[in-house]
Amino acid sequence: MVNDMSDTIAAISTAIGEAGIGIVRLSGRDSIEIANRIFIGNKVKSLDEAENRKLTYGHIVDPETGQIIDEVLIAYMKEPYTYTRENVVEIYCHGGVISVKRILEAVLSCGARLAEPGEFTKRAFLNGRLDLAQSEAVIDLIRAKTDKSLQVSLSQLEGGLSKRIRDIRNMLLEMLAHINASIDFSEDDVEDMGYEELENKARLVKDEIEKLLRTADRGKILRDGLNTVILGKPNVGKSSLLNSILRENRAIVTNIPGTTRDIIEEYVNIDGIPLKIIDTAGIRNTEDIVEKIGVDKAKEMVNKADLIIAVFDISNELSDEDYEIIEIIKDKQAIVLLNKSDLPKKYDKDYFEKLLPDKTIIYTSILEDIGVDALEEEIKRLFYSGDIDIESDVVVTNMRHKNQLIKAKKNIEDGIEGILANVPLDCIEVDIKACWENLGEISGDTVGEDILDRIFSDFCIGK
Ligand code: GDP
Repeated sequence: MVNDMSDTIAAISTAIGEAGIGIVRLSGRDSIEIANRIFIGNKVKSLDEAENRKLTYGHIVDPETGQIIDEVLIAYMKEPYTYTRENVVEIYCHGGVISVKRILEAVLSCGARLAEPGEFTKRAFLNGRLDLAQSEAVIDLIRAKTDKSLQVSLSQLEGGLSKRIRDIRNMLLEMLAHINASIDFSEDDVEDMGYEELENKARLVKDEIEKLLRTADRGKILRDGLNTVILGKPNVGKSSLLNSILRENRAIVTNIPGTTRDIIEEYVNIDGIPLKIIDTAGIRNTEDIVEKIGVDKAKEMVNKADLIIAVFDISNELSDEDYEIIEIIKDKQAIVLLNKSDLPKKYDKDYFEKLLPDKTIIYTSILEDIGVDALEEEIKRLFYSGDIDIESDVVVTNMRHKNQLIKAKKNIEDGIEGILANVPLDCIEVDIKACWENLGEISGDTVGEDILDRIFSDFCIGK
């Protein structure tokens, strides 16, 4: 990534396409100067006469020919009180493809450089306005699938997670200071004086890390969706079920281009839980998921899933395929639907309870819209049960953060082991320091350029 912070960067910050307005944004030392070269105001000659942070009306002209490109509103925002902490200019023009592109070309020809994906936010980070966890929350916020996921990313953007990490790191710093002091005085046999206190502190740190880690599974689901597979042999009612869920709860459909056929991801919003139904196109287009793609493939999908909804038709005899599905879901998080319960039943719940003792089993008639509510209630119960309060707790949503927490937990456990074994303090110090550093990678206090590049390249251009 080109990362010269002295460059002035520019990008189209709105989605391209037919729209009411489009926004071209600039950030950097020369933003205002560059904008002045292409802006002619109605009342002001140049932006220098316009007020900071106020919209000014005028036109953008081609810097070479002077020809009008579009009628615009423009605002400049002087550093440091801006998103990037640099001079920022935003040009609000008519939406659509041509106007925004021509304005972008005009600012590029006047000396701005096209921004890399996420470069505005990266500058906000490098200039100290946001820490890394907050910067990552920006992209989560943009991609949020439900109100709840928006809420957790907003809390992260406001620094909820960062503060918790900072508090833990401060505890570790106190331990390091303590160790250093003890090492300095070690000749006067004060060395073992500190072990007990160190142990207490280390256990507190471990507790705090574990508390955060406990939120990570649900956090990941809020951010990425609950990967759900609807499993069942042909004709049991899978697509009817899917359509019924979608009809009431459809949240967002995103196309992921670049694959052989575009994969369609559909998100369903079950009371704030984003359910991502895996390969729904597959379910709808191929008559039989188990038969067409084979048992192995079905197993693979099941392994990737957070939740399986297994559908059986209890108005018919169970077949080998049904029993195979029962085997597949035995050790998985699964909800069992006994469908077509409006018809005379060949099996009852008891029969399935014996085969699948720990699963929730629900009678449904999708045709008559019976039992789908119970299914949704069960999904909510699975997600919200436990001791985590999504509303008020800091929730870890990001896999990168989770991995750093796991590393930090290992470090502190090693530290505790060392303390209990009375190993020399400088050995313990190594673990404490590693723990402090691993947590620092979450907030971005200790983080390499390669990790930064990876994080910000995941952003869209213009953010
Ligand atoms: P899939 O192959 O598993 O996706 O099954 P479909 O959803 O296509 O359903 C197969 C057939 O069963 C269709 O004719 C549905 O109308 C019917 N069907 C689905 N659910 C029920 C139900 O609860 N009761 C009855 N009687 N028929 C149903």
